[in-house]
Amino acid sequence: MRVDSAQFIISNSDVKKCPAPTLPEYAFIGRSNVGKSSLINMLTGRKKLAKISGTPGKTQLINHFLINNTWYLVDLPGYGYAKISKGERRKWKKMINRYLLSRTNLMCTFLLIDARIPLQDNDLEFMNWLGTHQIPFVIVYTKTDKLSKKNLSDNLNNIRKGILKYWETLPREFITSSQSGLGKDDILNFVDSVNRDFRI
Ligand code: GDP
Repeated sequence: MRVDSAQFIISNSDVKKCPAPTLPEYAFIGRSNVGKSSLINMLTGRKKLAKISGTPGKTQLINHFLINNTWYLVDLPGYGYAKISKGERRKWKKMINRYLLSRTNLMCTFLLIDARIPLQDNDLEFMNWLGTHQIPFVIVYTKTDKLSKKNLSDNLNNIRKGILKYWETLPREFITSSQSGLGKDDILNFVDSVNRDFRI
């Protein structure tokens, strides 16, 4: 798939105000600073579609973008930012859970994981929550250009081992770099093929 148009639609914290669920939708989520905005910009070929945040943990809104007039890309606020208050964290959880459980058009969630660091408890916790609620997801490894081939392979194997302590099989994964564009075609082709399964 080629992205010909990418248009910001709406930002909000109220799931009820999201666009009508008449098009297939894909959510992007991960720990703050994981490289989510960079990935969204890389996928859409727009330098500033998603704001690359100087201050992690700032954006606490559900952001809808319409791609090619045929599907929604949703930028969800990141988790795991240390400086956020307990109240804010609770608010985040409530909003995200409500969003993920109620969007009937949600085809897949892209869970972003930083390939440079060991698997974090909150990544695993989130993954397990998705599993409990049978919400389809795939993993996107980010910032892979920052590692040597050997380190990348070792890190990913350790992360996979961590996941397999809880899961019988590994989720589908995409290896990406927003800097080099690695993984762009794979992700867009995946979206293209899943879009064909969409029924209102
Ligand atoms: P977000 O908070 O998850 O949206 O993360 P950002 O997209 O704002 O990225 C956080 C930082 O990581 C920024 O300084 C980016 O330039 C950097 N970054 C993100 N993706 C990549 C990548 O694929 N390669 C490299 N080298 N740096 C990246």
